[in-house]
Amino acid sequence: MMTASRTVLRLQGVRHAYQEVDRKLEILKGADFELKAGEMVALVAPSGAGKSTLLHLAGLLERPEGGEIYISGKACGTLSDGERTARRRNDIGFVYQFHHLLPEFSALENVMIPQMIRGLSKSVAAERARQLLDYLRVGPRADHRPAELSGGEQQRVAIARAVANAPLVLLADEPTGNLDPETSGYVFEALSALARQSGLASLVATHNHALAERMDRVVTLEDGLIVPWSA
Ligand code: ADP
Ligand code: MG
Repeated sequence: MMTASRTVLRLQGVRHAYQEVDRKLEILKGADFELKAGEMVALVAPSGAGKSTLLHLAGLLERPEGGEIYISGKACGTLSDGERTARRRNDIGFVYQFHHLLPEFSALENVMIPQMIRGLSKSVAAERARQLLDYLRVGPRADHRPAELSGGEQQRVAIARAVANAPLVLLADEPTGNLDPETSGYVFEALSALARQSGLASLVATHNHALAERMDRVVTLEDGLIVPWSA
């Protein structure tokens, strides 16, 4: 690419701690991080290191104790809760280890709902949902409820839902952590094809080193900071 990609997510000096009964558990101690448009970054760190905390802060689900989070260059610390909700809805897609799909709705409806909350018509939302499910090769399962889908299918529907509103950033918290190796492989393929095709930036927490190595960059958490992974 000729021009430098723009930064879509930036963490600057992010600090976060949890108050335990007798002590403060400092998880992030001034973490800096930058994610560019189209970039796929793996976050690999031991359990308890703070991966989920980091993703929740980056996804504006929690507010950091200190430092700042910028989405598309805009500082999020001073935004109201309502503005943060709007940013989450429009700019950020989140995928969890467990799919968190709404059990009483079909796969298609699960992908339509965030679009309709955003204000799109039912027919436009349905059309985009079908396209995404087809792209992720779960189109034939579109009318089934989550309980009728396999783990790999559930995660692909969850990915479709996360990107339904064409976010700038996809945050995924061990999205294949619950799947067997083969299923993990094709769910990851689906995720990366989608990211490559749409220019989406993604930060993916994973324990799977083979998958991490296939991303553009691998980072880890070390003493509360985000640092390049060195094997
Ligand atoms: P990871 O996702 O890397 O396993 P987490 O971000 O979930 O790590 O947790 C980091 C640490 O913070 C862990 O020691 C965890 O027990 C602690 N922790 C996470 N959430 C809370 C919370 N809401 N209250 C207190 N401690 C928490
Ligand atoms: Mg976690």
